[in-house]
Amino acid sequence: MKIRVLGAYGAEGLTQRPSAFLVNGRTLVDAGTVTGALSVAEQLDVEHVLVSHSHLDHIAGLAFLAETLACTSARRPITVTSVEPVVEALRKAVFNSVVWPDFSQIPSATGPVIKYRTLADDAEQRVGDLWVTPVAVNHSVPAAGFIVHDGAQGFIYSGDTGPTDELWKAARGLTGLRAVILECAFPNRLSALAEAAKHLTPELVRREIDKIPADLPVLIFHIKPQFVDETADELSRIDSHRVRLVEQDKTYDL
Ligand SMILES: [Zn+2]
Ligand SMILES: [Zn+2]
Repeated sequence: MKIRVLGAYGAEGLTQRPSAFLVNGRTLVDAGTVTGALSVAEQLDVEHVLVSHSHLDHIAGLAFLAETLACTSARRPITVTSVEPVVEALRKAVFNSVVWPDFSQIPSATGPVIKYRTLADDAEQRVGDLWVTPVAVNHSVPAAGFIVHDGAQGFIYSGDTGPTDELWKAARGLTGLRAVILECAFPNRLSALAEAAKHLTPELVRREIDKIPADLPVLIFHIKPQFVDETADELSRIDSHRVRLVEQDKTYDL
């Protein structure tokens, strides 16, 4: 399984792109960045977009990907996939003909560039060539983490979350897991902000990883660009062999 990091951060900075991961060239896990990281041909290869939640740093790229599809007369739609409240938020608050066009009706209702798909909570479901289990996590809006595997290898993706037990419980006993992609947004001195916004700090990351199997590498994403050096320094003191920062533009081969 190949995971290409299109965006590794919790917002946009000069060379820092919002969170998005392309799995096996066909499935996006979050879409904070798409068109700024993929060629048009690569964009047209995307079939599914798994969206963890409706915050802009996870969906901004979806707006422009939809436009690419519409402007290039793409042969097939992308399927935007998540749990019900996230799909509803995208329909009603983003692709609502006010913030952005309703691409589920463009170029026509019968042949649109975006289709929506709602996943059942806590159940493993087929998404393209992958199996995906969405698990509700602890964020300021309805949000899912995902357990993703291809039948042999897999990974756990936290999306945005504060401390959570459900995600780790859902992954317990699964074989073939190769990595955890875990969020961390703010340095330790902003723990009150992290608590209010429901994000992790390095100290909270340290506590979270005590809940998961010790042999699983932990790749950290979603640091806010303003705090990268400080937060990375704090993370490096946890366990530098096991806890690493996700590298933007790198492809991980699980
Ligand atoms: Zn975010
Ligand atoms: Zn968020």
